[in-house]
Amino acid sequence: MRKKIWIDGAWIDGSGEKMLYSINPATADVIAEIKEASFSDTERAIQAAKNSFYVTREWRDMDVQKRSDILLKIADKIEENLQEIAAIESMDNGKPLREAEADVDDAVHCFRYYAGLIRTPEGGVYQVNQNFGEMHSYEVREPVGVCAMITPWNFPFLMGIWKLAPALAAGNSIIFKPSSDTFLSAIKLFEIFEEVGLPKGTVNLLVGPGSTVGNKLAESKDVDMITFTGSTVVGQNIMRAAAANVKKIGLELGGKSPNIIFADVDIESAVEWAMLGIFFNQGEVCCAGSRIIIEKSIKDEFVKRLAERADRITLGNPLDNPDMGPLISKQHMQEVLSYIETGKKEGAALVCGGYRYMEGDCKKGYFVRPTVFDHCSSQMRIVKEEIFGPVVTIQTFETEKEAVALANDTVYGLAGAVFTNDMSKALRVIREIRAGITWINCYNPAFSEAPWGGYKMSGIGRELGVHGLEEYQEVKQININLNPGGPGWYHN
Ligand code: NAD
Repeated sequence: MRKKIWIDGAWIDGSGEKMLYSINPATADVIAEIKEASFSDTERAIQAAKNSFYVTREWRDMDVQKRSDILLKIADKIEENLQEIAAIESMDNGKPLREAEADVDDAVHCFRYYAGLIRTPEGGVYQVNQNFGEMHSYEVREPVGVCAMITPWNFPFLMGIWKLAPALAAGNSIIFKPSSDTFLSAIKLFEIFEEVGLPKGTVNLLVGPGSTVGNKLAESKDVDMITFTGSTVVGQNIMRAAAANVKKIGLELGGKSPNIIFADVDIESAVEWAMLGIFFNQGEVCCAGSRIIIEKSIKDEFVKRLAERADRITLGNPLDNPDMGPLISKQHMQEVLSYIETGKKEGAALVCGGYRYMEGDCKKGYFVRPTVFDHCSSQMRIVKEEIFGPVVTIQTFETEKEAVALANDTVYGLAGAVFTNDMSKALRVIREIRAGITWINCYNPAFSEAPWGGYKMSGIGRELGVHGLEEYQEVKQININLNPGGPGWYHN
C-alpha cells in the first residue's frame, strides 16, 4: 500500500530519496510504504502554513463558533472510523486492539473538549489608576502562528491529537511530523481533515527523518512554535535549534517514574495497578511506573505475587487482544534485551521474564516477556535510564523520608504514584514527588481535562486541559486611556 504526504491541500509523493516502510511488529511484514519527505518538501509545508496563517487567514479569522463546529465534526468522523483507525494503529504500533480503541476514543473526547473550551470566556479585565489616571486594561488570546509538531511512535494517534486539537482550536496553522515508524493513523486523520474541509495550508503532513525534516522544522525562522513529544536527547537538540528565532517550545520527554507502595495496602490490588503501570502498552509509555519503591516488610510477598501475575501475561497478535503485544521494532527490542543483560551484570536479581518470546504466533515478532528485577539500587543503569519496555525494578525503603528520597533520585520528573490507605501520608508524599503527573492508589489514568507534562528533564510546558490550549496561544494586553488630554508627564 503506497501512501502520500499532505502539503497545501494536496496529497503528493515526498521528494526525498528513500522509501520508508511501516512494519507490523507482530509479524515483521511490511504493511505500507511512503516516499520520504525532503528538505524542500519541508520548506514548502512551512510556506503553505505561513501563507495560510499570515495571508489567506481563513482558519485564524474564522468565527469561533464555526471553528468549534468543525472540531466537533472531526470528532464525529474519528468516532465513525474508530474501529478502522484502531486496527491500523494496532498493526502499525503493536499495541493490543482494545488499547488502540481506547486511544482513539480518547482522541474523540479531546477534540470535543477543545471544541467546547475555545467557546468559553478568556482573559481578564483590570481597572488601574497608576500615574496616568484611570485606565482600563484587558487581555486577549491570539494564536501563536505557524506551529510545527513532532511526535513519537508509542501512541502515534493520541500524541498527535493532544497537540492538533488545542492548536487548531486556537486558530493556528500546522506542520505535523509523526514518527517514521508509525505514520499510518496520521494519514487517516489527515483524510478526515480533508473531508471536513479544513482550509488549504492550515494543516500539512510530512513523513520523514527526524534528523532532516524534524531538525528543519525546529530551526526554521518561519516557524513560530515547535512542540515535541519524544526522547530527552532529541528534545535537547530541538531546544538548541529552536533558539534560532527564540520560537515558543513545548517538550514532552522521557521518564523513569517511581511507584511508591506502603505496607498498609491490599497487596493484590497494588500488584494489579503496578502491572498496569509498567506493562500497559508493552511498557512503551513515557509515564510508566518503571521503578517500584516498596516498604521492606511486604516486599517479598509483593514480588512473589507480581512475578506470578507477570508470568501469566499473554503475548500474541495485537489484533487478537492479548495482554501485551510486541515492541515497536527489532532495533528497539534489541535495546530492551540489552538493558536486561546490563541489569544482570549490575547484580540485580532477575525474577521473571527477561527474554525474547517466540512461541506460536510470536515467532517472527518482536516480543519480550514481562520482566521484574529485584534487589536494585539507584546507581544501576536499569534504575537510572529509561528502558521503554516491559521491565520493572524493585527497591525497598523503611521510612517515608527514604521513600521520597529514592523517588526523587532521578533526572526525570514526569510521573509518580503512591499506594497507601493512610490518606494524610499519601497527600504528604505525593506533594514531595518532583513530577507533573501523579496518582494516589492507581496508576496511568489520563483525561483530556487534566494537564499533562513533566518537571526536570521530562519537559517544558503542559498538554491537555486549559494549560494545553494556552500553550498554543499568545497573550496580549490592551490598555485603554479613559482620561481626556495628554498624560501631563513633562514639566514644560
Ligand atoms: P525519539 O525522540 O527518537 O523520536 C520522536 C520524534 O522525533 C520522531 O518523530 C523522530 O523522527 C523525531 N526526531 C528524531 N531526531 C530528531 C531531530 N534531531 N530533530 C527533530 N526531530 C527528531 O522518540 P521515540 O523513540 O519515537 O519515542 C520514545 C520517547 O518518547 C521516550 O523517551 C518517551 O518517554 C517519550 N515520550 C514522552 C511522552 C510525554 O508525554 N512526556 C509521551 C510519549 C513518549
